[in-house]
Amino acid sequence: MLLPISMSANNKRVRRAIIKILWDYGPMTKERLADMLQKHKSIRQVPSPNSLSALLCKNPQVVSLGSERVETITGVKATHMLFGIDSHLIQCEDDLLYSTPYNIMSPTQKKGALKCPTCGRRRIFPPDENRCLHCVRNNE
Ligand SMILES: [Zn+2]
Repeated sequence: MLLPISMSANNKRVRRAIIKILWDYGPMTKERLADMLQKHKSIRQVPSPNSLSALLCKNPQVVSLGSERVETITGVKATHMLFGIDSHLIQCEDDLLYSTPYNIMSPTQKKGALKCPTCGRRRIFPPDENRCLHCVRNNE
């Protein structure tokens, strides 16, 4: 799949909002997430369920946490995947910032980002660290 060189501003806002919602409300299906994005003031266009899955799978801050069985009023059973924050990587709210991928950072955040000498990711480093949060966590 070819990716556009720069993501649209709306897409970046969507990706930042996804992380905040998953952090605040815990694991949920992409259907519930779409509902919550709909109520979000800064989001003009909520992505389709398919693009939402792509955004979730591409984000290193998000993991899939099994699935939930749902039954509709007509008795049709379906399995919906649950997505949540990677709790090994992200242990407190500040970690949300330190694990934000470079391409969805705001312009101000980009100015504070450094290239990690261990893995090459561009991230805002946690205080008193000389490498990114991914590498800090992998060494714990
Ligand atoms: Zn690193």
